[in-house]
Amino acid sequence: MINLISDTVTKPSREMLEYMMSAELGDDVFGEDPTVNALQEKVAKMFGMEDALFCPSGTMTNQIAIKVHTRPLDEMICDQWSHVYQYEVGGYAFHSGIAVNPLIGKYGKITASQIEEAIKPEEDWLPRTTLVVLENSTNKGGGNYYTLDEIKPIQDLCDERGLALHLDGARLMNVLVETGESTQDVGSYFDSISLCLSKGLGTPGGSILIGRKDFIKEARRVRKVMGGGMRQTGILAAAGIYALDNNIPQLKVDNDRAKILGQFLAKQSFVKEVLPVRTNILIFELANGRTSSDFITQLKSKGINAAPFGAHSVRFVLHRDITDGMIGEVMNLMKDEK
Ligand SMILES: *Cc1c(COP(=O)(O)O)cnc(C)c1O
Repeated sequence: MINLISDTVTKPSREMLEYMMSAELGDDVFGEDPTVNALQEKVAKMFGMEDALFCPSGTMTNQIAIKVHTRPLDEMICDQWSHVYQYEVGGYAFHSGIAVNPLIGKYGKITASQIEEAIKPEEDWLPRTTLVVLENSTNKGGGNYYTLDEIKPIQDLCDERGLALHLDGARLMNVLVETGESTQDVGSYFDSISLCLSKGLGTPGGSILIGRKDFIKEARRVRKVMGGGMRQTGILAAAGIYALDNNIPQLKVDNDRAKILGQFLAKQSFVKEVLPVRTNILIFELANGRTSSDFITQLKSKGINAAPFGAHSVRFVLHRDITDGMIGEVMNLMKDEK
């Protein structure tokens, strides 16, 4: 099976597993796992931020950030396609008791002027706008991304209006290998950042939340109440350290392969439109009203696994377990699709 359903399917390499097995372990609920501490320090330093917190998933790092940045009856602003709104089970309401104002962006991106218009005035009957969440790269937006120049006016606005700014950077490193921007610079723009280690970076699990000392102190309490305090989790944190040291350059290869596949698909008669390919995600709409479920079933019978993205669109995600040979095979197998 050629698995293009997500970059979360990546399996730890032998080298990563060996590194994990040699990790020094302790009880992280007591803050005594040296490998978890090393990962947290490494990532905080990488982003020029004060502290970091290792968590089981990106949903948890996002939800903790929302919880710490808001109080019940507040409201967060995000793009209507964002992961925090679409794919986290409505956790903003469940954990934080807040409302959401999902804006209609462009391929998952929103602008400072849109946000400014959406900020609610202070009235007894309105939720209070206190948080903006950006996603970079955008998942449902087809791997689109913001440059820091585009984020700057949003950060200025948040500063001016006293709003917290959180980055869902699940696939941030796929962006930075394209723009050449540094993690230090990204760190200076946000109050908190969530980074997934389990996607293109290739670890079996784990995400990390980055922010100021007092923010992370509070985040630790919220992680605990969500049941995310783990014990000898240095074994997973070691995979994160290995990934950050070794697996970032591969993300550029993944991005480039998505572009190659995108160019191929744009020429096929069964494709109506390919969303602009900017990182490792490729979304295309099928021609002639063909349903994604029908198309995906057909692909599966040929040994290709893909995700439906709406009734007529399909998503491919490129990742490190895909080889050049597999890319050629995918093109060959799809050529005769009608
Ligand atoms: C994958 C993803 C997350 C986190 O997902 P988990 O499966 O909970 O780790 C968050 N945001 C975006 C944009 C994602 O793609």
